[in-house]
Amino acid sequence: MKFYSLNNKAPEVSFDTAVINGIAPDKGLYFPEKISPLSSSFFENIENLSNEEIAFKAIQQFVEGIVPNDVLKDILKEVLDFAFPVVEITPNIATLELFHGPTMAFKDVGARFMAQCLGYFSRSSDNEVTVLVATSGDTGGAVANGFLGVDGVNVVILYPSGKVSDFQERQLTTLGKNITALEVDGTFDDCQAMVKNAFLDKELLDHMKLTSANSINVARWLPQLFYFLFAYKQAKSKDKEIVFSVPSGNFGNICAGLVAQRLGMPVKHFVASTNVNDTVPQFMLTKEYTPKPSTATISNAMDVGDPSNFIRIRHLFQDNFEELKEHLSSFSFNDNETKDALKEIYDIKGYIADPHGAVGYLGLKKYQEQYPDTYGIFLETAHPVKFLDVVEETLNEKLEIPYQIQKVMGKTKKSIKISTYGGLKDFLLKS
Ligand SMILES: *Cc1c(COP(=O)(O)O)cnc(C)c1O
Repeated sequence: MKFYSLNNKAPEVSFDTAVINGIAPDKGLYFPEKISPLSSSFFENIENLSNEEIAFKAIQQFVEGIVPNDVLKDILKEVLDFAFPVVEITPNIATLELFHGPTMAFKDVGARFMAQCLGYFSRSSDNEVTVLVATSGDTGGAVANGFLGVDGVNVVILYPSGKVSDFQERQLTTLGKNITALEVDGTFDDCQAMVKNAFLDKELLDHMKLTSANSINVARWLPQLFYFLFAYKQAKSKDKEIVFSVPSGNFGNICAGLVAQRLGMPVKHFVASTNVNDTVPQFMLTKEYTPKPSTATISNAMDVGDPSNFIRIRHLFQDNFEELKEHLSSFSFNDNETKDALKEIYDIKGYIADPHGAVGYLGLKKYQEQYPDTYGIFLETAHPVKFLDVVEETLNEKLEIPYQIQKVMGKTKKSIKISTYGGLKDFLLKS
C-alpha cells in the first residue's frame, strides 16, 4: 500500500516513510492510495471476533508489505489491552467509552500504535529517532505514555509552564526512561513555534532524525477506525440503523469513522459535534470553509479553528458536497448548552459524562429530532475526572479519583526548564 500527499506535489511513499515523515515534503497530508472493503461475512460474524482480530483485519491492508502479520498482531496486543464498552443511556442512545486507557483519553490507541510502529521501524538501524512534540495537555500525556520504554525512540515533550493541569503535568514529567519533559517559560503557541523551528533547522536535522507525533500522522489517525468497529460489534443486535456522533476538534477521529464505513461497516450517518469553534458546521451550511482563531471552551480538546483532518474528509468524498452531506451532519453547541447536557445525561441514568461527550450527546439528539428511529452512539472521548472542576460544579457531585490518576499524582516531577529556541536546540544537540 502506498500513501500519497493530498497536495499532489510529493512522491508516493510506503507506510513506514509516511509515519516517519508525518507530513509530506509538500506539506500535504498523506492518504492511502486505496481503501478496499472487507468481506460481508466479516461484518456478519463480527460478534464472534476478538477486538484484536477485528483490528488486524481492518488495518492490515494499510501496513501490508511493511509490517509483517506476526509483528502487527503483537503490536495490536500491546495497543488494545483495555475495554471499549458501549453503555446504554436510553433505549436509542448509548455512549462508547474510549477513556479506559492509561491516560484516560481516546488518544491512547493512536499514540501507542504509532509508538510501536516507530519502534519496529528503528529496530535494525543504529539511527535512533527523536519524537518532538508540543502539548497543551492531553496529547503529550498520551504520546509520553505510548512511547515509554520503546527501544530506539526518544521522546521530547514541550509544555507551557503553569498552563497545564497538575495531573497533566505529572503525566508528562514523572515517567523517566526515554521520555524528557521540557518546561517552557511561555504559552502553548511558543512551544509549537519552537517545534516548528526545530523541523526547519538544518544543523539539527544533520545531527539527528527528528519526527513528530501529532494527529495528522497516519499511524495515529488510522487506528481510530477500530473504535467504530468495536461499537458496531456491540450494537448490531439492536437491529436499528446506527448513527455515530463524534465530538470533534481536528476531525481525525470522525474521519477514521468514515474510513470504517468505507470498509463496509453498515452505518446510517455521522454527526460531527463541535463546541463554538464551528468552522465545519458553518461549512456544512454555507459550503464556505473559513478557518478562524480558536475560542476557549470547557471542552478544550476541541478548541480548534482550522481542523487539520477535515481536508481528508473532503477528499474521501472527492470534494462532492452533496455526497458528503448524505453521510455527515455537523452541529455546534456553546458551554451553557454543554453544561445543561451534562445535567440531562446525569438525570436520565446517573451517568456522568465529560464536556466533550456531552457535546456529542447534543449533536446526536439534534439529529434524532429528524430520525428518531435510529440507534445513536456518542463517543465519550475522555474520562470526566479529567475535567473535574466543571463536572463537579455542574452536577454538584464529588467524583471518585480513579487508580490511573492516583498513581501518577504520587510521583515526583522531573523537567528541564527552557525559555528560548536556543535552549531547545542546545538540549537536542547534546542528547
Ligand atoms: C483530541 C480530543 C478530541 C477531538 O478529536 P479529533 O480527532 O481532534 O477531532 C475530542 N475529545 C477529547 C477528549 C480529545 O482529547
